[in-house]
Amino acid sequence: MTALPRLVAFDLDDTLAASKSPLDPRMAALLVRLLDVAVVCVISGGNFSQFRMQLVDNLENVSDEALTGLHLLPTCGTQYYRHSKGDWTQVYAENLSDDEKSRALAAVEAAARELGYWESDTWGPILEDRGSQITFSALGQSAPVARKVQWDPTGEKKNSLREKVQALLPDLEVRSGGSTSVDITRRGIDKAYGMKRLAVLTGVPLSDMLFIGDRLDENGNDYPVKVLGVECVAVEGWEDTAAYLETLIPTLAAGA
Ligand SMILES: [Mg+2]
Repeated sequence: MTALPRLVAFDLDDTLAASKSPLDPRMAALLVRLLDVAVVCVISGGNFSQFRMQLVDNLENVSDEALTGLHLLPTCGTQYYRHSKGDWTQVYAENLSDDEKSRALAAVEAAARELGYWESDTWGPILEDRGSQITFSALGQSAPVARKVQWDPTGEKKNSLREKVQALLPDLEVRSGGSTSVDITRRGIDKAYGMKRLAVLTGVPLSDMLFIGDRLDENGNDYPVKVLGVECVAVEGWEDTAAYLETLIPTLAAGA
């Protein structure tokens, strides 16, 4: 990218906020400022209820007009939400078929049990049907962040589970997601797919976008965006992202 980005896209968990936690007020204020100078997108494996709890419910002092510049792509862009008439509306959703869902649920449970990763002490359900995605969360959907971090610090468990489930579901795509999660979608559905959809939806070419994420490593769920050729910034948590935005926003404002 030679010029400044026209669109800034973010991963959600561990990029804008701690995993499954609300935005810090400092980050919320930075995003509101960013909306004045760029198109903003958030793309995550999470579903819209997570976007609501972590992100949109915590944005304050922002006009309806500014919010039209915020594009939300839950479940890797297989769903798309925009703000209009004072609320968030789903523009589209591409869901798995019932057969795909039942095979995915059965395969991930069987593989997790076989590997000894099917925990009995959990916080909420391990398996979740997100419509366009089946998600395995080793310690349950509502596990405390501190416990999740301890479960698989090297990523080894997620990777071995991912490989085993992928072998059982050759027609679907299996990816390691957040700190304890593995996501199953249709083939070719990843954040690169979402970014390509975003280019069509916004009219902003990929070459004018910047993507910020915490898992741009080869096994990470942000890696496909890097492979796609979008300019990327790797961060190690929301504080890193905040520091980056504190420099980027004045630069964009000066260039606008
Ligand atoms: Mg992340």
